[in-house]
Amino acid sequence: MNLYVHFPFCRVKCSYCALLSRGGASESVRAAAVARVVREWTERDAAPLETVYFGGGTPALCDLSPWTGPLAAWLSPGAEFTVELHPGDVTAAKLDELVQLGVNRISMGVQSFDDAVLAEMGRSHTAAMAEVAFRQAKAVFPNAGLDLIAGWPGVSDDAWRTTVARALALEPVHVSCYTLIREPKTRLDRAVRQGRVVLPDDAAALAQADLAREALEAAGLRRYEVSNYARPGFECRHNCAVWRGEDYVGLGEGAHGREGTVRTVGTATGYERTTLTAEADALERAVFGLRTAAGLDLQAVARRWPPLAPRRDAWRATLAALVAPGILVETAPDVFAPTPRGFEVAGAVMAELL
Ligand code: SF4
Repeated sequence: MNLYVHFPFCRVKCSYCALLSRGGASESVRAAAVARVVREWTERDAAPLETVYFGGGTPALCDLSPWTGPLAAWLSPGAEFTVELHPGDVTAAKLDELVQLGVNRISMGVQSFDDAVLAEMGRSHTAAMAEVAFRQAKAVFPNAGLDLIAGWPGVSDDAWRTTVARALALEPVHVSCYTLIREPKTRLDRAVRQGRVVLPDDAAALAQADLAREALEAAGLRRYEVSNYARPGFECRHNCAVWRGEDYVGLGEGAHGREGTVRTVGTATGYERTTLTAEADALERAVFGLRTAAGLDLQAVARRWPPLAPRRDAWRATLAALVAPGILVETAPDVFAPTPRGFEVAGAVMAELL
């Protein structure tokens, strides 16, 4: 089983962020949220865990020690246990707490190595602070990755190259490089609507994402999903499980979960549950393959999800038509994977199949 736990707290809200997180929560509010998810986990018919992912928000803002006992009993040997870290979280004591918890992988949100950009993003750290924090965390957790955001307004290609180079100088084994999305109701969205900020057009943003791809691949990190690169063997096993269509339990306010045909979303007091038809469930699980380097294996899809078998011929025709324009490659009979161009338009290809 795979477990995702959401911690909806941050020191301050970043200007672009639409994730469920609140700034300024008191220690007792954070402790109550941790107690809630620990209780929910212990009340479940738990199963051995192959992957655990603590995300947010900023998980390390909370005292995570109440999780130690409840998780120790359920972590499978060799399980991957990831915690998202903010550069401001990294202290020797916090790293030690994570070691005691069984964490063996960290993902640090850095986003940029340009102090002016970090200030515009509302990040509460500088580039130099992020470098120190990443080195300190990586000394404890060699399986350490970081996140960047491509396409920030006003960033020249040269400045972006510098950010990517400074990221690579830290020798992360994993980099997530997201292209900026203007999320509704964020400070960035407001600034754009008021004309105070002009976003780069799609082509310019994608060009910067492509500059990052070239640099990351040249440094030996392989693109394995639209926004994710890793040294071989350091792909995020939790996210790969989700993208392969496996189940995952989602705990905490803002957490999404998938168990059988039921989808859950954590609210402040409980969980909203939606039950899908067998076909809708299978569709959602299957098409995500088109966002990954592994691609979509039509024969495997038909075997694993019988409700989708009748679609196989139509899907093959649709996907085969995207080979000549250079969007997909047929890597084996009936297996279609995205090219670099295909990664850029993966959402549209998935929509076509749906
Ligand atoms: S630290 Fe992460 S989750 Fe928190 S506001 Fe910033 S981007 Fe969002």
